[in-house]
Amino acid sequence: MIDPFGRHVTYLRVSVTDRCDFRCVYCMAENMTFLPKKDLLSLEELDRVCSAFVAKGVKKLRLTGGEPLVRRNIMSLVEGLSRHLHSGDLEELTLTTNGSQLSRYAAELAGHGVKRINVSVDTRDPVKFKAITRWGDFAKVEAGLQAAKAAGLAIKINAVALRGINEDEIEELLRWAHGEGMDLTLIETMPLGDIEGDRTDQYLPLSVVRARLQERFTLQDIPYKTGGPARYVRVAETGGRLGFITPLTHNFCESCNRVRLTCTGTLYMCLGQEDAADLRAPLRASESNHLLDAAIDEAISRKPKGHDFIIDRRHNKPALSRHMSVTGG
Ligand code: SAM
Repeated sequence: MIDPFGRHVTYLRVSVTDRCDFRCVYCMAENMTFLPKKDLLSLEELDRVCSAFVAKGVKKLRLTGGEPLVRRNIMSLVEGLSRHLHSGDLEELTLTTNGSQLSRYAAELAGHGVKRINVSVDTRDPVKFKAITRWGDFAKVEAGLQAAKAAGLAIKINAVALRGINEDEIEELLRWAHGEGMDLTLIETMPLGDIEGDRTDQYLPLSVVRARLQERFTLQDIPYKTGGPARYVRVAETGGRLGFITPLTHNFCESCNRVRLTCTGTLYMCLGQEDAADLRAPLRASESNHLLDAAIDEAISRKPKGHDFIIDRRHNKPALSRHMSVTGG
């Protein structure tokens, strides 16, 4: 699949549920209204759409959400999709999780061919953790990380940089992650969805974080790529990898290789634009995939050049009304 700007689309992110067992302050309001179950694609339908994308050349699939591991029976989807790893059509099947359910699922994930996972941890301070996630329990996440390690999964920690909340802890997060053999990626808050608060208060440009880290550490640019939007450096003092995802201070649209599917079968061709394509109707209209394939091709032909997120005092409303939990991080 090649879009109008010559970019090869080889990466599909799938939000398998909009529900989550956390309520991170920058992601969701505490009282979220979730989708009625009837609107969701079944696990069999998700498998069918993902498989159609694999047949069209997608090499990397990431399950996300909401919290992917709270979707009932999610392991049957993982197991089903692993057939594309065995056939060699898919290079990577991975997931982004808050870690709360990893104790239960890490070994099974590894058994189904998952090699790497992203776990979101913005702070290791249990009190702050509760304040950021509202409902989360850091002890459970720590146990989940141990289970993932024991299962042999490579782990990348994702941390959203939040002004006045975890900015004083980033150095420590870096030492911890690298000390445990995990990569760390820092993310700028993106203006997605109404969150009952002002994002300008939370937004911390990563250019500032990087400059601060450079006072203490030697950061060497490296060409390492995971297929995602992060730019990586090697931290000489720890030997570990540090990534920066900077949709605001420096967007990464020119190398975008991704599209995102929601749990209702809506395909977003860009995280930062409203334009979308409905894949559920063509999926359900026919048992064969010809309508679905045509809808995917048409959607890719509309992939936009990029997005333009802005957060400042004049633009403190969400750029888009949908939350990150809809399209997945
Ligand atoms: N529940 C899973 C998790 O916690 O990783 C997967 C979904 S979550 C939406 C994926 C990632 O998006 C998390 O790392 C989260 O911190 C990040 N995220 C959510 N809302 C965001 C926002 N407005 N700006 C930047 N990152 C955000």
